[in-house]
Amino acid sequence: MRSIQLKNIEKSFNGELILENINLTIPEGKFFALLGPSGCGKTTILRLIAGFETPDNGSIFLGDTDITYVPSNQRRINTVFQNYALFPHMNVFDNVAYSLMLKKLDEELIKSRVFKILKAVRLEHQMYKSINQLSGGQQQRVALARAIINEPEVLLLDEPLAALDVKLREQMLIELMDLQETLSTTFVYVTHDQTEALTLADQMAIMNYDGHIEQIGTPREIYEFPISSFVAQFVGKMNIFRGTLHSGNKVSFVEETNLGAFEVAAGARVPWMVEGGQVLMGVRPEKIWISKKAEENFSNHLTGKVESIVYHGPATQYNVRVKNGTRIEVFEQNEEHFPKDKIDYDDQVYLHWQKENAVLLER
Ligand code: ATP
Repeated sequence: MRSIQLKNIEKSFNGELILENINLTIPEGKFFALLGPSGCGKTTILRLIAGFETPDNGSIFLGDTDITYVPSNQRRINTVFQNYALFPHMNVFDNVAYSLMLKKLDEELIKSRVFKILKAVRLEHQMYKSINQLSGGQQQRVALARAIINEPEVLLLDEPLAALDVKLREQMLIELMDLQETLSTTFVYVTHDQTEALTLADQMAIMNYDGHIEQIGTPREIYEFPISSFVAQFVGKMNIFRGTLHSGNKVSFVEETNLGAFEVAAGARVPWMVEGGQVLMGVRPEKIWISKKAEENFSNHLTGKVESIVYHGPATQYNVRVKNGTRIEVFEQNEEHFPKDKIDYDDQVYLHWQKENAVLLER
């Protein structure tokens, strides 16, 4: 297995710049997700890696080898598309065996390899069914089997689960993770669904609307320590406060007009943030403790009025209006282990959070 490196990649279509100065290292043998809004250029990056497109500038490396101009059929890189692209007139076995047959491999060898792969994707009992007798999830597994049969170094997956219903998608996500672990092939997975990316990836990159990469990191790093409000809000919900940064002895704090000052852990501060400068402070809804009584053991406090309550099953969302008019969202797990006073519409409530749970955002 080898890593993939994109260096200063630039790509335009019909004079429109789609990708500008993309620098990205995809580590070998890992599950890497590329997440971003529709039209930001994710598929274009996959097509460049696959060799279906060439960049206008920059280069692509597989390990130490420059593959920028290597034809796609000479790269050990395969792609699984959203629409599966199976041969409808062939059965499951023939779809999967197709590339091995083209190579004129020994018949027994083909049989044993196809059988092994079909077992890995749990289709060994559907081997002789025709494609149109299969469910969407089974068809997607055939597409996966076909893409991994000739042991590529890299498997590119372009929104492969988009056509499946939610339940099946959840099941396939787990199967994909297992498959990646078994094969240790580098998986590059493109999606605009943040839950998929957070669930699957060892590492992920977030692209913005302009086709720039905003942040690269593990799902936990991206979720817990987003660098910008775009990233923070693309991977989940985030309450954002805009204030002035001050430094105390041990902590920094952010002061927002008409709302007060809030402590931020020293580690949250990034060197470019200057004393007296404007910053954004983010706090995720699930990090806020809501109660009808004031609690002592938190760094930060606010009071407000409950405006609406949304029941989500495992969690309840409270929308609370605080005194400068800002609406704060709070998520609370619905568990009965620590019973507390029931909170209703129009209740006056206290919101609390620890300084470690606030992040400072660049923009
Ligand atoms: P989605 O999530 O909707 O699939 P994406 O992030 O994968 O979007 P791309 O498919 O890479 O986005 O497209 C990025 C931009 O480049 C879009 O504006 C698209 O219209 C344009 N584009 C992509 N391929 C071509 C092409 N062959 N010719 C002209 N424009 C193209």
